[in-house]
Amino acid sequence: MIATAPTRVFINGRIFEASDAQKANTGFAECMILEGDKISYVGSRSDKSVQDLIETGVEVVDLESRVVIPGFIDAHTHLLFFGLSQRKLDLTNCTSLESLQSAISDYAREHPELPRVLCRGWLQSSTGRLALATMLDNIDPHGRAIYVESLDLHSTWVNTAALEELPLDDAKELGEHQVPCDENGKPTGLFAEAGQTDIVWNFLNAQYTDEEQQAALQVAFDIYIASGYTGAIDMAMDDHAWDILKQYRKNHGTLPIHVAAHWLVRPTGDIAAQVDEAIARNKEWHPSSTPDFCVVGIKLICDGTVDGCTAALSQPYPSHNNLIDPLFTKEEMEMVTTKAAQANLQVAIHAIGNAAVKQAIDSIASTNSPTSRHRIEHLEVTNEEDAKRLGALGITASVQPVHSDPAILVDYQKLVGPHLWDRAFAYKEFLDGHACVAFGTDAPTARHLPLPNLYNATTRRSATQPHMTERTTPHQALTMSQAFYAATAGAAYSRFAETWTGSLKAGLQADFVVLDSKWTPETLLDDSVAETWSKGRRVYQAAQQA
Ligand SMILES: [Zn+2]
Repeated sequence: MIATAPTRVFINGRIFEASDAQKANTGFAECMILEGDKISYVGSRSDKSVQDLIETGVEVVDLESRVVIPGFIDAHTHLLFFGLSQRKLDLTNCTSLESLQSAISDYAREHPELPRVLCRGWLQSSTGRLALATMLDNIDPHGRAIYVESLDLHSTWVNTAALEELPLDDAKELGEHQVPCDENGKPTGLFAEAGQTDIVWNFLNAQYTDEEQQAALQVAFDIYIASGYTGAIDMAMDDHAWDILKQYRKNHGTLPIHVAAHWLVRPTGDIAAQVDEAIARNKEWHPSSTPDFCVVGIKLICDGTVDGCTAALSQPYPSHNNLIDPLFTKEEMEMVTTKAAQANLQVAIHAIGNAAVKQAIDSIASTNSPTSRHRIEHLEVTNEEDAKRLGALGITASVQPVHSDPAILVDYQKLVGPHLWDRAFAYKEFLDGHACVAFGTDAPTARHLPLPNLYNATTRRSATQPHMTERTTPHQALTMSQAFYAATAGAAYSRFAETWTGSLKAGLQADFVVLDSKWTPETLLDDSVAETWSKGRRVYQAAQQA
């Protein structure tokens, strides 16, 4: 079938020919040829072989000076959660308790059919970091359970009706940080980290039907393709989400985008047994046999977030006396990373605070496997010497520029203090130290859109509130070329996929995006995806402008 697929010659394009992650500027080629599902040529149109081919009467597509880039690969996302989040009330724009309550109340009134009221996008600073069940009571006329997920997806705040339906027998054991309780030992309404994943998510996941989850996944894929993605790395896989993906693949024969997963290993229970489980999944779904649907490694969550005051910094938060410790001890983390590395799995460690980052790098260094492409997720605050160690140790800097948007960092500077603020989101240093930089969005903790993400990375200004003049550590900005590389080839490299996708080169899979773009950082928010192509087929085309 592939052999008979048409040959197409794309001309008059600006084909992004990035071959170097660090180069500040990259030139464009004008011509690209597809044969079947592969790219067979990128270069000059005046080449004799191109002329000869055109004369045989093959299809010639005039790109009219539009930009062609490799298909985006979201290097850190949560596809099923993203799909499910699309049907929750978005509270991202609520800046006070009153506006949040009234948004929920309006939504609840408009949706009497829902069994419970699910919301997302709560910024903890908008409610003064207070999250009591009583603050969400009496706002739904139908008295249903209300669940409000924080924007960073590390906490859920619930009302009294939700406390009544949740299984809370083991809640107290998780401790004050994860499930705050009153003097009688009753949870007061906030569930953070394991409190959220083990209690709230386990409960809510069981409420969805299989059909609802398949539909949610379809929504996620449709939105991703329309946004220009041809691949993703799903960054906290578990049995539940994997089964839903597997079922989707069985129903449809294939996934619309390629997906590599990192299996979540929690700091609770039998940790070694969880790693064994991940190793077994990797054997069963190995990238060498099913590269577009595979388990490539493990994921550890080493700390929380700055907004939740749970990121492990080298200093206490302003109103706290104690340091926040990483969620794994040094010994546990070294045991896990060593065990995974010996089985040839990639290790991905969520580390946001500089103390967590240091521990993560030390653990990876202890495995002595510099070619295994282990990775650290987020890397929001790093010590200068640690930023340099990434490249030296072959560690991928998996970062989400959308998390550096000044509009969501209102409290951040105060929480980390001026010294550490100066060290925030140090992308340029990671790149200068020769680390592979891979961009993701961490959807649904943030918007999934690739172009605003690149705007954050290149301008360091707010993509959601472009009128804001604040810039996040602007000296750490990347250039257009560096940023697009990180969002495509860098993300492919981070999962050992650069031999078959992630750049526009002869022999690689024809995964690409046609962009309407002026190709400057300042105009990225006006750019748009005109077409998405996957394996040589056009899978998305934007509606024609009248
Ligand atoms: Zn994530």
